[in-house]
Amino acid sequence: MLTQNLGYPRIGGQRQLKKASEQYWAGKIGLRELLQIAQTIKQENWQTQLNAGIDLIPCNDFSLYDQTLDMSLLLDVIPQRYAPLLANVAENGVTDLYFAMARGYQKEGLDITAMEMTKWLDTNYHYIVPEFTADQEFHIFQENLFSDYTNAKQLLGEKAKPVLVGPISYLLLGKEKEPGFDRIDLIKKLVPVYVAIINRLKGLGAKWIQLDEPCLALDLSKKEKEAFDFAYRRMANQVSGVNLLVATYFDALLDNTQLAVNLPVSALHIDLVRAPEQLDEVLALLPATLKLSLGVVDGRNVWRNDYSTSLNLINKAVKKLGTDRVIIAPSCSLLHSPIDLDGETALNAEIKNWMAFAKQKLNEVRELKQIAEGNDALLQANKIAIEGRRASQKVHKQAVKDRVVSITEADTTRISAFPIRQQIQHDRFSLPSFPTTTIGSFPQTDDIRQLRAKFKKGELTVEQYEAAIEQATIDVIRWQEAIGFDVLVHGEFERNDMVEYFGEQLDGFLFTQNGWVQSYGSRCVKPPVIYGDVSRPKDMTVRWSQFAAAQTDKPMKGMLTGPVTILQWSFVRDDQPRDVTTNQIALAIHDEVLALEAAGIGIVQIDEAAIREGLPLRKAKRSHYLDWAVKAFRITASGVQDRTQIHTHMCYSEFNDIIEHIAAMDADVITIETSRSQMELLHAFAHFEYPNEIGPGVYDIHSPRVPSIEEMVALLTKAAELLPAQNLWVNPDCGLKTRKWPETKEALENMVAAAKQAREQIQIEA
Ligand code: GLN
Ligand code: ZN
Repeated sequence: MLTQNLGYPRIGGQRQLKKASEQYWAGKIGLRELLQIAQTIKQENWQTQLNAGIDLIPCNDFSLYDQTLDMSLLLDVIPQRYAPLLANVAENGVTDLYFAMARGYQKEGLDITAMEMTKWLDTNYHYIVPEFTADQEFHIFQENLFSDYTNAKQLLGEKAKPVLVGPISYLLLGKEKEPGFDRIDLIKKLVPVYVAIINRLKGLGAKWIQLDEPCLALDLSKKEKEAFDFAYRRMANQVSGVNLLVATYFDALLDNTQLAVNLPVSALHIDLVRAPEQLDEVLALLPATLKLSLGVVDGRNVWRNDYSTSLNLINKAVKKLGTDRVIIAPSCSLLHSPIDLDGETALNAEIKNWMAFAKQKLNEVRELKQIAEGNDALLQANKIAIEGRRASQKVHKQAVKDRVVSITEADTTRISAFPIRQQIQHDRFSLPSFPTTTIGSFPQTDDIRQLRAKFKKGELTVEQYEAAIEQATIDVIRWQEAIGFDVLVHGEFERNDMVEYFGEQLDGFLFTQNGWVQSYGSRCVKPPVIYGDVSRPKDMTVRWSQFAAAQTDKPMKGMLTGPVTILQWSFVRDDQPRDVTTNQIALAIHDEVLALEAAGIGIVQIDEAAIREGLPLRKAKRSHYLDWAVKAFRITASGVQDRTQIHTHMCYSEFNDIIEHIAAMDADVITIETSRSQMELLHAFAHFEYPNEIGPGVYDIHSPRVPSIEEMVALLTKAAELLPAQNLWVNPDCGLKTRKWPETKEALENMVAAAKQAREQIQIEA
């Protein structure tokens, strides 16, 4: 029986790669130093995996920015706009071209935009989207892959396994940059280059090559399935003497099972954490030539593996295939997992004992093999930890569970239907048409960040800290009044992050010191961990909302994060369904909404920035998800009086296929990100005849650029052509936390002026 790993985090245990890349971009260190730091991380990663007893160890899984971008450079898929940078490659190497593709290039009179970035399937990791043209050609361009393999081989010998994005997923995850062709048709030109790469790796000594084909777990068209078959048959005909391993993950193969098991390769990897139920069918169909890699250790979460559960799967496979056709592995690359639990010195010891990060997961893979080969002591030790978690009072709160079970229809429904609420709210707030507001946060200046840092370090007393936050809040309220906003916000100066702020106050959450995961390039996130039943010991935001409301006669919006967003941006319990955890969070947020209402806050915004992100990869699973996600939002928003106005906010989302569910959330007002798409996204709302009020963003907050009054009036005019003007609000795309003050002030002054013009120019039907 073999063990393998599919990929290892590359940021380094102390985020060395992040720091080094940022220093390199800032011109503070040279290329040689950056590459040296990268090399050290690679060597350490290989050594760690070797020490853990892994048999097939990935190389080329490391990347200075993103592995899909590495593929584009390897295959010479370099968009034409970077041509001016090619001249330097011979002299200075490829790194500056590479970073220009990732981040754009504004130097020496050149102004070249970056390539698009999007989420890697349903993870929070972002990859650089390959751009294809109709006459796209492929060649081997960048040679790093080969030197990386040679390096790895020196340390690992035959265990070194180069990893590539497979040819079909590489095409499908990219984009046509001009009309008139289908990128999947490029497969005929692409396969010969993969053949050349594989043969070169074989020539250097590679025994195994991993081809990641996550698209095998997606809904595929007939043509895409045929392309899979074509590509792998062609490769099999032209390479020999090297084992190809196709890796799938994040969902079941389902209708692609036949296709996947019949690919002419040496081994297939399947995700048995996300989809354990697929094992039976795969085993039934697997031809005798294929080895099966069992992804039993969760590569995307922080929990210790339940060996008994994994062992059942392993035993089943061994019984059918024999030990030498079974490989044990994590479910997917460990890129999505924090690096080393040993570094967490402040965690509660009991809870820490239930957890495993990347390094610990490698040991789990090896131990599972030892257990499958008869080591019973390891199994017993694991049972004790798992049982401890199952029974722990830290995890289980009966009152919380009972409350979730007793949620009724009434708990998810507002008292009156929207038209009645709308009338009551209009009478209460007497807002003008095209009312102006913002999404919540105002610029978090260095002063504010330092204030929080000092407070955390104990250098400021609570009184000093709160006085300073109060002052910032008062200032921003005075300013909003002065420029004429209709609905004010308090600015969120007391919050570091919209999920962390709530997680820190809710029971059932914990925070790590160093549990960083790469989000994109040098950007890392440190998601909170939900380990137990979630409850709300006391009010979370009332103090600040009440303080802010008392400073003004204008309506002050309360500001909360919704349950699905809190779930999506955390590591979640794996011992109960996600919807149960979401409902627990929803009840906690619901209680906070009621507390705000009782404190006199008339408008409450519940942000669901991430609702679209949670959508399952397979279409067939989407409606179930949307049902519980929408229900969770409705739990938070119900129970208030008709006169309380509930807002929600969503970041950039494609609404077309989910619009009925968005409408079912029944928020009185929804604000969305639309300015970059020139109101394109509103078509979904228009087509659906979305009945409630809506604030399409008119100011792109992802850029320091200040939009003009005319520009924003034009956007509002467009919006009013699509939706009833009396339902429209005027607001930016999203929160302003990452912006600087000068541009923010100018842009918002223009925005308020644009709303005034809209009131004069755009007809409102009675
Ligand atoms: N209220 C949050 C803010 O303004 C919303 C941020 C978001 O949608 N990502 O920062
Ligand atoms: Zn947003």
